[in-house]
Amino acid sequence: MEKKIIIATQNLGKLKEFEIALSSFFDTFLSLKSFNDQDEVEENGMTYQENAHLKAIYFYEKYHLPVIADDSGLEVSSLNNYPGIYSARISENDEKRRKIILNKLDGISSREASMITHLTYMDDTGMYDFEARVEGKISLEEEGDQGFGYDRIFIPKGYSNTFSCMQPNEKLNVSHRGNVIQQLIQFLKEKSYE
Ligand code: IMP
Repeated sequence: MEKKIIIATQNLGKLKEFEIALSSFFDTFLSLKSFNDQDEVEENGMTYQENAHLKAIYFYEKYHLPVIADDSGLEVSSLNNYPGIYSARISENDEKRRKIILNKLDGISSREASMITHLTYMDDTGMYDFEARVEGKISLEEEGDQGFGYDRIFIPKGYSNTFSCMQPNEKLNVSHRGNVIQQLIQFLKEKSYE
């Protein structure tokens, strides 16, 4: 039987990462764009987990198909973990959001930061949670042209270039999202042997 999964996002960069990493588990990936679904779930939770739950429940109840919802954020240590759960909302587009971070860090040498993803998977058996964080730092300027969001200014620990300088598979080997997807894969494998 054809295995379908809804990736509860309008973000095609995010969708692509899920498609690459989960292609052996699901046959069809449906993003909100494939349904032409413009519904905006109000992300008014106080944590990444609460926001991921809001999205997973909303779209599971709407379509009755397995759903993956993730909520992510960038946390900059010297800015008291700003922008955190507000990462998508500090300005209207990715470019302006990256500028805000670079401007706030202008002249500041302590540039440690991390990226976090909380992934919620929901199907007719229940709701399951996975979370991961990747440590790194904010670059001095934008670098690279791959990826999306804050990728052009985030350098993962142990590397000298940003996520945007990596091919999608390389980013998945290192990133917060790659990590939660590995946890989900492990879970799905165990589940199918139940
Ligand atoms: P959301 O999880 O889609 O709400 O994303 C929150 C914010 O973080 C948005 O501005 C995204 O563009 C950004 N973001 C999410 N995942 C990543 C990533 O893997 N790399 C860089 N930025 C990301």
